[in-house]
Amino acid sequence: MMIQTHHHPSSTKGLSSLTTLLTTPTTSLLIDPPFLLPDALSTLSWISSLTPHPPSAIFLTHHHPDHFFSANPILSAFPNAKLYAAPYVLARINNEYDQKIKYWNEVLEDGLVPEVPRRPEPYPWSFFVLGGEKVGEEGEKGEGEEVVVLLGPVQGDCVDQTIFWIPGERTVVAGDVVFGRSGHVWVEELDSPALLEAWLKTLDMIEQLHPVKIIPGHMEAGWELDAEADLAHTRRYLQLFGEKVTYADKKLGVQELYEFFRDAFPQCRENLDFFLGHMANRFGEGGTVWEENRHQEVGEKRPEELSGYWLGGSGGMNGRIH
Ligand SMILES: [Zn+2]
Repeated sequence: MMIQTHHHPSSTKGLSSLTTLLTTPTTSLLIDPPFLLPDALSTLSWISSLTPHPPSAIFLTHHHPDHFFSANPILSAFPNAKLYAAPYVLARINNEYDQKIKYWNEVLEDGLVPEVPRRPEPYPWSFFVLGGEKVGEEGEKGEGEEVVVLLGPVQGDCVDQTIFWIPGERTVVAGDVVFGRSGHVWVEELDSPALLEAWLKTLDMIEQLHPVKIIPGHMEAGWELDAEADLAHTRRYLQLFGEKVTYADKKLGVQELYEFFRDAFPQCRENLDFFLGHMANRFGEGGTVWEENRHQEVGEKRPEELSGYWLGGSGGMNGRIH
């Protein structure tokens, strides 16, 4: 095994987002720094407990603040590390950057998020190579190098996400395309049937990679990863959301919606106000929509834009929205 993957859960207040570290005998690389500064500090000591090699880069899976806001102290500790995101992720960050900083600085106590979170540089390639012995002066191939593929843009809990596929280890770093079974799924941004169906297609695509390990975007501390169970959890959640919201004949009340999802997933106990409160208000009858989260205008996106990579023929779009 050349690349090893490790994951670190943020605090509950930091929404239990996962930070992933890739290590090889000679290098390391980080994916998705935490939301909150205290979690970034614990991430730093976690990194040094795992590798003597500073991360050469920090990659982001998507534009949500809980996956990039507190990169600053990590970048200060490792000044040579690049902060990268796919161009479509960076475009989404830029689209809402000012408003999200203003919102979270108002909502959270002082010192929990940076006043000016570092923005990533665009990473234009569809893969990177990690590890290996020192490459010689003539640029000959090093020993033990391994490829990591960026798959995207794909739909998850928002549009335009990247998942990281490590074929040599059959590992997927899924970001918020897969949610660990310990928590509720962020479905607040599923403004159209096309978005829901595109997310399900992303899960189908991941399944076809036959991964042995999936690192989800969120998982409470103390839970073990389980690729099959976490995929199944995310899929079941989306299917119930389809039944109760997207394809429902009648709009449920805010409280009714909240309680339905709370009771359907009794093992999910944290951050209910955030995950279920915003969702139930967004989609429940008479609810108050979280306007500060509406920068993306994704409801108009067509299935072809969202999962145009799916060339599998007429049966390929689940048949529901054509
Ligand atoms: Zn997230």
